[in-house]
Amino acid sequence: MIELDGSTGEGGGQILRSALTLAMITGRPFRIRNIRARRAKPGLMRQHLVAVQAASRICGAEVKGAAVGSQELEFVPDKVQGGDYRFAIGTAGSCTLVLQTVLPALLTAERPSTLRLSGGTHNPMAPPVQFLQRAYCRAMAEMGARIDVRLERFGFYPAGGGEVVASVSPCAQLRPHEWMERGERRAAYAECFIAAIPGRVAQRELECVGKAMNWGEDQLLNRSLPAEQGPGNALMLTFDYAHTTEVFTAFGEKSVSAENVARQVVQRARQYLSSNAAVAEYLGDQLMLPLALAGGGGFTVDEVSMHARTNAGVIELFLPVRFGFGRRDGVDCCTVAPR
Ligand code: AMP
Repeated sequence: MIELDGSTGEGGGQILRSALTLAMITGRPFRIRNIRARRAKPGLMRQHLVAVQAASRICGAEVKGAAVGSQELEFVPDKVQGGDYRFAIGTAGSCTLVLQTVLPALLTAERPSTLRLSGGTHNPMAPPVQFLQRAYCRAMAEMGARIDVRLERFGFYPAGGGEVVASVSPCAQLRPHEWMERGERRAAYAECFIAAIPGRVAQRELECVGKAMNWGEDQLLNRSLPAEQGPGNALMLTFDYAHTTEVFTAFGEKSVSAENVARQVVQRARQYLSSNAAVAEYLGDQLMLPLALAGGGGFTVDEVSMHARTNAGVIELFLPVRFGFGRRDGVDCCTVAPR
């Protein structure tokens, strides 16, 4: 039984999610205590509980401690079964974080799967669906995985009510891959997703991004949504390169001005753009587990986060690999190799 301490390093939900994914894939059971000990509300929140339930349904696991607020969990997996699954998170808990937990495991199933999730699709502190589609799924495709993610309905925090459908084809072995350079830029654009919020908010956000990035009208896209999918607002910048795609998002909030929402996302994008790294912090976080499963590879990244270092520790407990963090051509770099 692998023992994990959820208060290690960054101390959030990623420790649990990575452990679930790796237990499903390796068949190795684990016990975790101090779940999300470094978060304001420690223990399992609804979205983490759904991740546990989804993981256990998909691999027929025996689970102890699966309840909202629980700070300890035991997970004894059986075999991953492909098929059609539905999971309802109920609140705006993130659909994408649940998806990320189970997608790598479903690649190892003998038959294809579809997953339908309802809940939040655009939450602060989680990847928005477009990030999964454009950045994560593209990177997974480079490693040989065919994952298709469809957004059927937006679900903004806090109301939720979104719908996402993912299809996964089996891929017995991911291919190692390196993302050391971005390559040529093919496109860059901003999108303002907005529902049940005055249209001038979108105009102000896009105008502000346009000025800061020196972008023309054709790069500033107002994606107005039906009011019943709101209220909600996400401002997203996408950078599409020959070797990688990056997506940065800021979320509108009641007490935050449109200009400040724009500033947040521009600042994040600029950090990436000025670093010359192939991927940004979040995509880096999310590529570590698939690369370890592939048995090798790496990426240059604009910032090696505490998340990444914590995640490396969890992955090394389950798989015979070793992560290395260093510098390459003046940029942070993360690599993984067999141990
Ligand atoms: P945790 O805080 O441990 O629950 O983990 C949050 C996860 O969401 C991490 O894997 C982050 O990489 C990811 N994440 C948070 N915000 C974003 C974002 N705006 N875009 C993409 N990924 C995100």
